[in-house]
Amino acid sequence: MAKTKELSKDTRNKIVDLHQAGKTESAIGPYAKLLLGAMKSSGCAVYKDRHFSCEDCDGTVSGGFDATSSQIVLCQNNIHQQSHMNRVVTHELIHAFDHCRAHVDWFNNFKHLACSEIRAANLSGDCSFHNEVSRFNFGLKKHHQECVRGRALRSILAVRKVSREEAEKVVDEVFDTCFNDHAPFGRIPHDKKDANFAYRDFENRDRYYANL
Ligand SMILES: [Zn+2]
Repeated sequence: MAKTKELSKDTRNKIVDLHQAGKTESAIGPYAKLLLGAMKSSGCAVYKDRHFSCEDCDGTVSGGFDATSSQIVLCQNNIHQQSHMNRVVTHELIHAFDHCRAHVDWFNNFKHLACSEIRAANLSGDCSFHNEVSRFNFGLKKHHQECVRGRALRSILAVRKVSREEAEKVVDEVFDTCFNDHAPFGRIPHDKKDANFAYRDFENRDRYYANL
């Protein structure tokens, strides 16, 4: 346990340093860059000092999106590695993107919440190959979908007081539609290479249409 704490302190300092230097986004790679770009072009600019907050969080929560303030919370006490932070930032940015483009009713429409959690689990790398191997869950073809479904359920149950059956029902209702909605990536980015391709396509989107 002590070891984890040490590591956590180092990483926390690193996050805070990056944050204070205004480099939170640039340090986190193509997924986040693409999401930030997509939000900007949808009219939702993200400001590093206003929209990212480093806090200590309860339990094992690693991050959150606060819809009322449009703020992404990074749980500095529960994030121990740069790669984990990248996933958390990407996951929460997907919620922020959905909030921006779709006027999500987080509190009254259960389907909206379920859909965004499915998308965040699917597109953030939460269920990517390396991640799953490291959890000793390496498995079959359908495994990615199972992982996404499981993580979406877990996220919903962490923020809403509903029964597991109720959460499962809603997740299953919207699963196919939301699992296949890859905006703004255009694909499921399984690794950094995919994310770089997606970012390149996104950067070239205007040029492409201008040439038609
Ligand atoms: Zn989430």
